[in-house]
Amino acid sequence: MTHPQSLLANPLLTEWTGAFGLPPFESIKPEHFRPAFDRALAEHRAEIDAIAADKAAPSFDNTIVALEKSGQLLDRISNMFFVLAGAHTSDEIEAVERDISPLLARHNNALHLNRALYARIADLQCRREMLGLDVEQKRVLDRYHIRFVRAGAALDKPAQDRLAGINEKLASLGTQFGQNVLADEKSYALVLEEGDLAGLPDFARAAARAVAEERGHPGKYAITLARSSCESFLQFSSRRDLREKIFHAWITRGENGGATDNRALIAEMVRLRAERARLLGFANYADYRLDDQMAKTPQAARALLDEVWRRACAKADAERDTLQATIAQEGGNFALEAWDWRYYAEKLRKAKFDLDEAEIKPYFQLDKMIEAAFETARRLFGLTFTPVNVPLYHPDAHAYEVKDANGRHVGLFIGDYFARASKHSGAWMTSLRDQEKLTGDVRPIILNVCNFNKPAAGESALLSFDDARTLFHEFGHALHGLLSNVTYPLLAGAAVSSDFVELPSQLYEHWLEVPEILQKYARHTVTGEPMSQMLLDRLLATRTFNQGFATVEYTACALVDLDLHALPETARLQVNTFEREALERIKMPSAIVMRHRLPHFQHLFSGGGYAASITRTCGRKCSTPTPSRPSKKPATPSMRRPRGACVITFTAPETCAIRRRPIKPSAVVCRRSTRCSRSAASTQCWHDPV
Ligand SMILES: [Zn+2]
Repeated sequence: MTHPQSLLANPLLTEWTGAFGLPPFESIKPEHFRPAFDRALAEHRAEIDAIAADKAAPSFDNTIVALEKSGQLLDRISNMFFVLAGAHTSDEIEAVERDISPLLARHNNALHLNRALYARIADLQCRREMLGLDVEQKRVLDRYHIRFVRAGAALDKPAQDRLAGINEKLASLGTQFGQNVLADEKSYALVLEEGDLAGLPDFARAAARAVAEERGHPGKYAITLARSSCESFLQFSSRRDLREKIFHAWITRGENGGATDNRALIAEMVRLRAERARLLGFANYADYRLDDQMAKTPQAARALLDEVWRRACAKADAERDTLQATIAQEGGNFALEAWDWRYYAEKLRKAKFDLDEAEIKPYFQLDKMIEAAFETARRLFGLTFTPVNVPLYHPDAHAYEVKDANGRHVGLFIGDYFARASKHSGAWMTSLRDQEKLTGDVRPIILNVCNFNKPAAGESALLSFDDARTLFHEFGHALHGLLSNVTYPLLAGAAVSSDFVELPSQLYEHWLEVPEILQKYARHTVTGEPMSQMLLDRLLATRTFNQGFATVEYTACALVDLDLHALPETARLQVNTFEREALERIKMPSAIVMRHRLPHFQHLFSGGGYAASITRTCGRKCSTPTPSRPSKKPATPSMRRPRGACVITFTAPETCAIRRRPIKPSAVVCRRSTRCSRSAASTQCWHDPV
């Protein structure tokens, strides 16, 4: 039982009066969360009940505005909790997450299945043209109405009860899914001796040495299942046996038997999602999910993907032949396998463009790339970023105050860039506070969380060109949050259509490739010299290299996702069999594996932010779990940046508020020609290996 005295001492429930209104991280303990959630949930419940029971006729103010102002304590605590659960978790935080996930789902059910509340919203929606609302207010009302209908507010009581049970179960399963993947990632390290490092450049050796130290093997070298560690090894190690070993461990996360095996969870989640969609009047979950996105239908998404797939496979086949020829030239007598692809591609890149990763990497210092991202934002938007010394949740996270061209405070940006065992894999943008003007001039606190290799003490952190692109990509999402300018919290930051949300980030990453930026900020870590024009030209010339592979790798994920969530029969789903047969149907190239196989496909199952809609990121891997947030805000999955290159997005159609169908539907394919690196319902973005 919660003692009133302990509530008084709970820092989550006191006013946060520190700099920028940040949470007092240093005094918050895992045991503070459950009583704080209990209090916040009770407060929000009372607020909702009061709105629903209001005797006055529904008005925009007494219903929508009141909803928008409700749940502030719950938002504050949820934001704080899910930042920790993604970026710096622990056994205690994971236990709280398992404990509160079904509670939050139950709370969301109580909100969205409240008949009296829905009746008020539906009444307002019917009279929306007579209410004198401005454009933003109409949008907020539309979104509330759609949200309640899609949550089942208009269903009969038995259907609602079943839906509520499904939602709670799905919340628990989603939490478990993400924790299982993290457990597999934490428990594995390939520990190596000096003699096992053939082919590895100095920076990869230094990173492996630092990881071994962190994992308790000083003096040795370790490769983990973090993408930056594992991919680097696959790219450079000439030890084919070790490449196979690490690759196998990497692609079997979540299917190793025992307590962390995700296959049974997936089968149950797919079955529950299908049932939920049927209760809501849709043929399957893919129809349900896409109905509220710009793509509108699985058929539209599929048509776009098929077009990409056909061309990507042709390109990948040609790339495979070239790599196989390279093996033959070296006297190798084996067929190219998935654990060989990156290694021979790197060799070929070196031969063809006289360029290897080891030559480029010293020019991409993390600090310089952060500076470059900031300087680009200054020139584009007049923003400045000043480091501020404030206590955060981990020493590797750093805060910057953001101001506009007139010196006015815009918000706070927090960058947390290094991989660690307590962090979920991937890269994402999230927030501790979103911008809004309804309750005052509320300024945002936005985070970018990545998983770059941490250097040994005293050495510079070096990025690959692809890592640098991920940094710019996530920073594009961060700017979306920082430059938000809305009145209503529901629409803040990245709360846009989920197949639109990648646009700012995909655009921003292109600024990295502007020669002016590279010449100024890509400076050698030892000499300080800028990249020579010749090296810069060669680097930029490689942008389309190996893009068949990259595009196949992630587009396969989108196609399998669509198939899985459109299944007519889900009762006897065998995950491995389904995945294998789905890949056979699309004729998956044999030497390429899905960028995210189903048992660790966190975009789809850790909260489900991307399920049946992975097309919106067109594949960049994003692997952080989706926080199952309660409250009025939509769940916000992580937007990790797909690793491949092509961006598929749909134009934003004008939507008919009544029929919820686009007026003038249209779609565009914007295909990136360069390689590029997680996101869902609305306010945040998580990125990593999709
Ligand atoms: Zn993204």
